[in-house]
Amino acid sequence: MKNFFIILCACLASVSVAQQTDYVDFKKVEALIVFNQFQVDSTKYNSYDAKFDILRSTDSIYLDAINMKFIHVAIDGSEINFSNDGKKLKIYHSFEKGKTYNLSFLFFASPKKAMYFVGWENEGRNQIWTQGQGKYTSNWLPSLDDTNDKIEFDLKFVAPKTYQVISNGVLKSKSDNDGHVLWEYDMKHPMSSYLVAVVVGKYDKKTETSKSGIPLEYYYYPEDSLKVEPTYRYSKQMFDFLEEEIGVAYPWQNYKQVPVHDFLYAGMENTSLTIFSDAFVVDSIGFNDKNYVNVNAHELAHQWFGDLVTAKSGAHHWLQEGFATYYALLAEKDVFGENYFYFKLLESSIDLGKQDISGNGTSLLNPKSSSLTFYQRGAWVLHALRTKVGDRVFRQAVINYLEKYKFKNAETSDFIKEVERIYGRSLSSFVNLWIKQKDFPVDNAFDILKQQSTYINEFLMVDCQAKSSKCSEYLKYYVSDEAKAKIISQVPELVTPETFNNGLKVRQAISKYVRQIPVNLKEDYESLLDDKSYITIENALYNLWSSFPEDRSAYLFKTRDIVGFNDKNVRLLWIVLNLSTPFYKADNKQALFQELIGYTGEKYNADLRIKAFQYLKMIKSCNEDCMSNLENAKSHHNWRLVKFAKQLSEELEQKRN
Ligand SMILES: [Zn+2]
Repeated sequence: MKNFFIILCACLASVSVAQQTDYVDFKKVEALIVFNQFQVDSTKYNSYDAKFDILRSTDSIYLDAINMKFIHVAIDGSEINFSNDGKKLKIYHSFEKGKTYNLSFLFFASPKKAMYFVGWENEGRNQIWTQGQGKYTSNWLPSLDDTNDKIEFDLKFVAPKTYQVISNGVLKSKSDNDGHVLWEYDMKHPMSSYLVAVVVGKYDKKTETSKSGIPLEYYYYPEDSLKVEPTYRYSKQMFDFLEEEIGVAYPWQNYKQVPVHDFLYAGMENTSLTIFSDAFVVDSIGFNDKNYVNVNAHELAHQWFGDLVTAKSGAHHWLQEGFATYYALLAEKDVFGENYFYFKLLESSIDLGKQDISGNGTSLLNPKSSSLTFYQRGAWVLHALRTKVGDRVFRQAVINYLEKYKFKNAETSDFIKEVERIYGRSLSSFVNLWIKQKDFPVDNAFDILKQQSTYINEFLMVDCQAKSSKCSEYLKYYVSDEAKAKIISQVPELVTPETFNNGLKVRQAISKYVRQIPVNLKEDYESLLDDKSYITIENALYNLWSSFPEDRSAYLFKTRDIVGFNDKNVRLLWIVLNLSTPFYKADNKQALFQELIGYTGEKYNADLRIKAFQYLKMIKSCNEDCMSNLENAKSHHNWRLVKFAKQLSEELEQKRN
């Protein structure tokens, strides 16, 4: 999973769950789920068949099943005793060691989480989508919250005819019946229950084929056909790269990627089906600022690290997130070059160092670690390990690790043992330093970067805080864009008309740090409004508007048609500036204000709503409609919006009292 912000470790609960895996091994589940007008049909029971082996004789087994009803619970065709406490379905029978049984039943689910119904009551986007990690698939499908029993899930769905249904595995058949369509999906291999997923919605798709012959399916909303290329840019290149780099063939039948509305995270690596936030569906300008490339590579890498081999418990969560982060970075290196790769490593080592200073650092094996630790320290472990043992040993060990634990679970020592076996020496001091000890070894990380990258050496050397005598010259030298951006952030007064001759990133830094614009820079600064970056345009518009009041109409006129990202960043700023510019198109103000209020409504995405609420708070104009939308936002499925709405509500309440 790739989070926008902080994530809670999803695997924690798996440790404490009773070890049913010691006596039962679920092999296969076939289930049929019926959707009716965008809910799980409350008039029809869904069907369920499971096959399992008994490893040790027992008189009961269970499935996790939250808030469900069951009828006709049968073993090998005969109805048997069961109990249902709203959390678990328990089945009583004298199960004998070494035997295989078939369990079947009809069930009715009314999921409150893990399956989300978006927009089916209003004119927004009609979608159903799931999120299993951290939420439990057992909210909509009887399954196992323990990640350690891997099951082959073959799911069937019935849905209204106008919608696409996308699930794990390959679409085996699709048959039409009376306005509804039956979709049958088929998996070849087992997976942990948290990786089961389905999306229902209106989509078109574009398909490519990897070098190795795997179908790559890119889903998109029908109106977004022009955004397909920038959104999915480099997908096939990264897929081919990762197969080659990892050295183990992609383990599943196909690879599908589907954007959904108001997703809980940036992306989720369900087996053969990555679901990601439609905030990453971008046009070619949006690509420059906020593209899907990193999340794309990260979720893809999880198909091996997490989906094929799954961590045994939360203590080994980095085997998923650290590997996905590191291999995503390798794929990005293939696309964006070495400097990009080292710069990202530098940034993460600085963040990890700061985390230790603030007292929040933890050992990588602490299941309560921050996402920074699991993701970035995990990635650093792999980079440092590769540096220590060399490419050949590292790559062979990863191959052996994946082969040995495929379709199974592993822990940290399993991986380290595979490396030691080929390296021929103990790695215990490495493990102590990089994995076990509480502090991230930031000095060692810096040493590695300095040894490996002249670009990083230059970046560290170019510094206006340290060497002020040379400082004024840096922006004139040939140094990297990142180094120039750093100088601009430290001493924005050094910017001259010549500085504008640099590329997108340096110009973006100017828009960010030169806020009071000197008259001699006015003309060059105005050219930022034409940049291919919605961040630069948003910054520049605001700074120009406030620095040169006499030209406000001209700036508003020039940017009147720019919308920006999915959260309409430029449009919202434009409306607010317009409302604060009395002489510009005075007769249009009321309509613009209504437009701004409208964006707080439930048919818009969470990011846009949050931004609109923030602006309304800023201009002290959250009226009745806005307040009612704020109240309604508190019960949204997206926790970021809920948290924001509660906080803002409180603030507004306090002001009133
Ligand atoms: Zn992840």
